[in-house]
Amino acid sequence: MEIEWRRPLLFALPAAALAFFIGIQFDGPSGQATPFDQIGYPVAFSLLLTLSLVLWKRPARVNAVVTALVFAMSSLFLSKLVFILFFIPQSYQVQLEMTETFFWIPALQILSFFIPNLRGARNASTIFFSLFLLVSVMYLLQVIGSQPSQGTVYALLQLNLANGVLFIVTSAFIGFKEKYVRSISAYETVRELLDTDLLTGLPNRQRLHEVMNTAISEQRTFALLFIDLDGFKLINDTLGHVIGDRALQETSRRLQKLEDQHYFAGRLSGDEFVVLVFDDPTKASQIAQTLLTDLARPIVAEGHIVHLTASIGMSVYPDDGSDSQQLIQHADSAMYTVKTFGKNGIRRFELATDSAIERLKQIEHALTQALTCQQFHLVYQPICSLDDGVVRKLETLLRWTHPTLGPVSAAEFIPIAETNGQIIPLGEWALRAACQQAREWIDRTGLAVTVSVNVSPLQFTQVNFVNQVRQALGDARLPASALEIELTESAVMRRLEVVKASLHELQRLGVRIAIDDFGTGYSSLAYLRDLPINCIKIDQTFIHDLSTPRRAPQFALALIEAVIGIASTLSLQVVAEGIETQKQLDMLRDLGCDLGQGYFLCPPVAADAALETVLASTLFPPGSSPTPLD
Ligand code: C2E
Ligand code: MG
Ligand code: MG
Repeated sequence: MEIEWRRPLLFALPAAALAFFIGIQFDGPSGQATPFDQIGYPVAFSLLLTLSLVLWKRPARVNAVVTALVFAMSSLFLSKLVFILFFIPQSYQVQLEMTETFFWIPALQILSFFIPNLRGARNASTIFFSLFLLVSVMYLLQVIGSQPSQGTVYALLQLNLANGVLFIVTSAFIGFKEKYVRSISAYETVRELLDTDLLTGLPNRQRLHEVMNTAISEQRTFALLFIDLDGFKLINDTLGHVIGDRALQETSRRLQKLEDQHYFAGRLSGDEFVVLVFDDPTKASQIAQTLLTDLARPIVAEGHIVHLTASIGMSVYPDDGSDSQQLIQHADSAMYTVKTFGKNGIRRFELATDSAIERLKQIEHALTQALTCQQFHLVYQPICSLDDGVVRKLETLLRWTHPTLGPVSAAEFIPIAETNGQIIPLGEWALRAACQQAREWIDRTGLAVTVSVNVSPLQFTQVNFVNQVRQALGDARLPASALEIELTESAVMRRLEVVKASLHELQRLGVRIAIDDFGTGYSSLAYLRDLPINCIKIDQTFIHDLSTPRRAPQFALALIEAVIGIASTLSLQVVAEGIETQKQLDMLRDLGCDLGQGYFLCPPVAADAALETVLASTLFPPGSSPTPLD
């Protein structure tokens, strides 16, 4: 606890007045204790004591107290001067009395520095100085002609000279202080503007971080409520930005209503707000609940009634994060979970659930920039003949390396890109890049290597998909026969009629079609007969099951056998995906499977390494039994 050692000093002034009064009582020998002093000092003592007590109890009242003190004491000593000059009984020595009055003047002038209202301070010293001067001049005018006491005139001159010097010095100091205060307040205005969100008047992101960092440095516990309005984008898009802005302003007003010194509201961006609840995080859920109800009240904006609700995520310092960034991120993730599970609710951050969702969100966000930032590249996995190991085609696979997330697997980001539609530009990029690469190989070696490109259902059902393919081939000057499109069964079955037309068009172009992950989708075999399909890729789970007896190897075996049988009837190629062991390879070869792909043969590799596998012609070393590449 801070020791407030300065407080007792407040009583120095009343103590001095008391000392003077006591001194007067014992001042018999000099006989200078005037009737004014007998009344004036007790009055001064009580006044100073009262003001000191007020200041002791209410330190915030310092402005009013100091101003009252300066004016009251000035009046007291001015009265004393008037008394000395005009009313003092003959027996007293005026000069001596005036010296005593001198004593207080510097103290009062200095005190006026502390009047925070600078005009008040300036007025105090001007009034004080002018009145002293006026009283002196009046005295001199009165005694002129008579025989004035030389000593009194001399003392008056001294008093006013000293007073004048002090007045000039005080005014100079006050002027300087005024200038300084003005520049400080200009600085504060700029700072305030920099820290304020202009639309809503709430503290902005920067200020929120500052407030949190201060609390963290003081080890002060607090809860962070991350508030995101549900469906705000829709309001902005349908009713316009003016109404959107009004809604945001009204939301801010509601957030500010809870005036509490343990509460701090700010706007992060768009429709995202943050409320900090200090010292008692248990209160935070209660506050969040109140806010949720309050924010759900309809907003009237420009004649429209806007209904908004909010999703609130909460994180607590120090339990859920050690810095402001992390606390915001975690509360944001909890909020995101609320959104995922139906909006209009509150949730506290939970590491296990929310961090998984947080990663999904990070990936989704990072994906928006990834293509323009050239973070993708393609790798190629050879597909070879199981008889002799000769590489027949290369499957292109997308790879993404994000600067902070690191490599993100296709299995993780492709489904996200599929849900938010980013797969469309991404897939188009992959298609074009694969065609360009195949062109480069032709230019370098004269060999037309078939590249097999994965196409998502969403991309495939775009009306201009076939055109996209035509253009990619045209731009790369690649023969259509060097391109194969891999589609999953679900993609084919989803909108069979549309897909059928596109497949026929692609066939006319000369592009080959493969069904990827066969066996995991509909497995309606009829479409194999009706559609222009060239190749079936048996899903790796069946290949895996072949060598793992516990997981129904008979079923996997029967399915692979059946698929190979049908494929041979329909003259389709069969590729076994995900071959990882010699045993699987042997079994597949015995079953009569044409082609295979898998880590055991060759993992996905960069373009140059992929070309080498093609040029080496076989993935099996000369002799016989295949051995894996590294
Ligand atoms: P997919 O088309 O079935 O691709 C085969 C996946 O199996 C690849 O995973 C490949 O690296 C992996 N793989 C290859 N050999 C083995 C093996 O022996 N064992 C095991 N366990 N896995 C093996 P990847 O690259 O992670 O891709 C996953 C999926 O992402 C792909 O499955 C495909 O559906 C999708 N994908 C990849 N690139 C693209 C693309 O450019 N466009 C689209 N639309 N989807 C893509
Ligand atoms: Mg594939
Ligand atoms: Mg596959």
